[in-house]
Amino acid sequence: MLSGKVAIVTGASRGIGRKIALALVAQGAKVVASARNAEALDNLVAEIEGHGGEAIAVAGDVASGTDAARLIEQAVAAYGQIDILVNNAGITRDGLLLRMKDEDWDAVIDTNLKGAFLCIRAAAKVMSKQRSGRIINISSVVGEMGNAGQANYCSSKAGLLGLTKSVARELARRNITVNAITPGFIVTDMTDGMTDKARESMTEQIPLGRLGEADDVANAVIFLASEQSSYVTGQVLGVNGGMYM
Ligand code: NAP
Repeated sequence: MLSGKVAIVTGASRGIGRKIALALVAQGAKVVASARNAEALDNLVAEIEGHGGEAIAVAGDVASGTDAARLIEQAVAAYGQIDILVNNAGITRDGLLLRMKDEDWDAVIDTNLKGAFLCIRAAAKVMSKQRSGRIINISSVVGEMGNAGQANYCSSKAGLLGLTKSVARELARRNITVNAITPGFIVTDMTDGMTDKARESMTEQIPLGRLGEADDVANAVIFLASEQSSYVTGQVLGVNGGMYM
């Protein structure tokens, strides 16, 4: 149970982040939900409050240092502490290397990698003073394997693993754990655009024989946020149906 804990979730407006926010609330945590779409965040907060949970929305762009700092400030102003930070916000701008535009490279690295760095740096100040904290970075199986057409995305997600391990070493003495989750193919808006044929050939590569659900990732987040994982840091937890071992 996470009663009394305060969790920030970036990219909480839909997909995996939304499920992570709901799962944290179900465990008793108060949630600070962030993303750019303020209306979707307000709907999430209303849903959480409707079930008797506590949450606030802080709209912003993770790639902006000002917004990331404001997110942490507002979390502390509302709840006085930050116990859990889930860096989940992410985008894709796919294309083959030779045709990839500079702006597609920059947008993906800025959101997926720099965004996590900005939020971690701001939250780590608060967690260091508390002498406790859990940081969970949502990377991707393709950050481990590579994927044609996703040089920018795979680089951002591989970078997130280096960031996870470096920061885990820096913050361990302050009782802050830092871990990454590498989801495989999870059914969300990000994978919805696939053709049936692409989906079938993807499923064939997965030993468990199905695409993942957002709840599969949320369950792994709950473990890494819980007391049960207090001796786990700097690790990469694959939630991929066995497609990469
Ligand atoms: P999604 O449905 O597209 O949701 C992405 C979330 O990130 C949205 O809430 C979006 O909200 C937010 N976001 C995007 N850019 C942002 C920015 N600049 N600032 C703040 N928030 C931003 O994607 P998803 O499938 O749930 O993916 C969630 C995470 O899991 C991502 O990091 C993704 O790379 C990773 N992942 C997904 C899969 C998969 O198969 N789905 C597999 C491996 C890893 P707004 O648009 O409102 O800002």
